[in-house]
Amino acid sequence: MDEQIDVSIRPQKERSNMVALIKAQNITKDYQTEEVVVHALREVDFEIEPASFVSFVGPSGSGKTTILNLIGCLDKPSAGNLRIADTDVIGLDRKNSAAFRGKHLGFIFQDFNLIPVLTVYENIEYPLIMVQNIPPQERKERIARLLAAVDMTDQAHKYPHQVSGGQKQRVAIARALVTNPALVLADEPTANLDSQTAYAVIGLMKKMRDDFGTTFIFSTHDTKIVGEAEVIFRLEDGRLTAKEMKGGAKSG
Ligand code: ADP
Ligand code: MG
Repeated sequence: MDEQIDVSIRPQKERSNMVALIKAQNITKDYQTEEVVVHALREVDFEIEPASFVSFVGPSGSGKTTILNLIGCLDKPSAGNLRIADTDVIGLDRKNSAAFRGKHLGFIFQDFNLIPVLTVYENIEYPLIMVQNIPPQERKERIARLLAAVDMTDQAHKYPHQVSGGQKQRVAIARALVTNPALVLADEPTANLDSQTAYAVIGLMKKMRDDFGTTFIFSTHDTKIVGEAEVIFRLEDGRLTAKEMKGGAKSG
């Protein structure tokens, strides 16, 4: 757990000979309800390269949230192997899962999940509370850089209720990136946005990938937004039915 896994700040080119950031083999997830067993994921296999821009796409109930929760180390599969940044994340206990998330992962949510009593600035700063070894000046610089990157510098003092939905999601993107994670997970990040704002939010995530080398994985059932991803995994009834590569992504 203490080894440095630094895949977040290297430019894309230098990563070409690196191992997959995520390697999922035969992932199965069953939910046991009182009545029945729900097969949410069935023998799902995939690899995701560092610095890629990936979408899991499928109708409601196809398993998108389930797969993102597993990659996010928020839940464990019923069977299969899952390695992220060369770590067997299934083998991590609760404490080490939390540490792994804090160090390597960022999250963006459908309903933004900003803290209402904190300003835009404080919301972005919030994940750094868990990070001890960053001097105050560097914290300020990092937040300022992210505020600028998501074009929210002049809104930094405002509270979430004082900004628009698109602006809230820009704050959430900055918050997800403030700890320099290797990987950001976004479960239907555009579901509560109009389609023009949705494009802008996806475009901003892609720009953040370009600038910081962070891998982004988002889920959506919006066919318009899907086209913005470079790698598309299609889910149907818990099965991975297709992998599509768009321009800009390496094949393999
Ligand atoms: P999506 O995000 O694509 O809508 P989900 O991953 O949320 O799909 O759900 C996949 C399947 O698993 C669905 O049939 C859903 O009803 C079921 N499911 C999800 N979470 C649970 C749970 N906690 N308990 C029982 N069934 C669940
Ligand atoms: Mg879902």
